[in-house]
Amino acid sequence: MARPSFRASRQTLIAAGTLLAVALVVAFSSRAFIEQHKVEALHPSPALKRVFPLSEINPNLKGTPGDTDVYMYEGPGKGGSLLVIGGSHASEIAGTMTVALLVETLKVDAGTVFLIPHANASAMTHDEPQEAHPRHVFFDTPGGRRAFRLGARFTNPVHQWPDPITYAQPGSGTMLAGAETRNLNRAFPGVENGNLTERIAWGITELIRREGIDLSFDIHESSPEYPVINAIVASETSQDVASYAAISLQSDGWEFALEPSPPNFHGLSHREWTDHTKTRPILLETASAVMGRLRGPTNADLATIGKDPQYVKAAKIGAISVPFDENGISIEVRVARDLAAIAAIVSAFNDLVPDRAILVGGWPDPKELVEHKLGDYLAAP
Ligand SMILES: [Zn+2]
Repeated sequence: MARPSFRASRQTLIAAGTLLAVALVVAFSSRAFIEQHKVEALHPSPALKRVFPLSEINPNLKGTPGDTDVYMYEGPGKGGSLLVIGGSHASEIAGTMTVALLVETLKVDAGTVFLIPHANASAMTHDEPQEAHPRHVFFDTPGGRRAFRLGARFTNPVHQWPDPITYAQPGSGTMLAGAETRNLNRAFPGVENGNLTERIAWGITELIRREGIDLSFDIHESSPEYPVINAIVASETSQDVASYAAISLQSDGWEFALEPSPPNFHGLSHREWTDHTKTRPILLETASAVMGRLRGPTNADLATIGKDPQYVKAAKIGAISVPFDENGISIEVRVARDLAAIAAIVSAFNDLVPDRAILVGGWPDPKELVEHKLGDYLAAP
């Protein structure tokens, strides 16, 4: 008689233990899930005029996870206008951090500046599957530690689903793999009432059109083995400022490859902003070891400190496209490259189009940033 009741209680214990384990996993993962939906607070510089949602430009984004903040700055003097977006691909953290740093340090003497740190806000709410990426990266400011999310390349499938088998790009009809329907940098110029990604793309393109923005930057990163890296991508309308700036960057010790925007590479920001707006578009690209296929152990330090012995070996045998030594490629170097390029291109624009000059500054000197920590320049949490 005692035996069956002992078995029953053992089974009850196993069931209770399993349920408890499941509850713990659910509690842990739901906390991480909710954390990744929390938009990090930025502390704009005093030059900020106003912050508005992109849904003000495309009302079809209102109340959706694709809506995102646009930070607008205006100087006392009249001048041209500038747009800088980061996080088109939310896994490319240096782009987001460059724009976040601009939000917190920008000074404007003349002209108007629009900054979008999370261009694809939905892509910020998840991470790359099966990549063991950290969900957050950390920066120690003088007033304490700040966390920023490391998102994914594509719009979160929870927000835009299902993917078609193939994605016929609106406008060009170019056929792409189905998942590319969630790639913001294949969705330009966008569709006003299209899928979520196309609506975001339309909002940004329409912002450029409506405000008559003169100069527009889209900041990206890629794996160190990708061939178009440490690059300034410019189209036929921005070649003038880009080539002028490339020379001054080179003489200042910054190596950049100047890459043309292919005329039939549709959906990309630099191509479609050229064809559908009057802006001069520029895409910037830096090398991030955390995105690479040859990387070793993956953690938040790899995304920020950027040291990786595997890439040191790869560089020695010429398997990658950028120099990579024991110092790695830190987030400070990547953000400094973005800032140096932006400063040089804005300055080239001001020389070529003086009546639309954009007089901006306030961000850390790129050469100085490389010698310090990014957190030294960010506001306290
Ligand atoms: Zn990218």
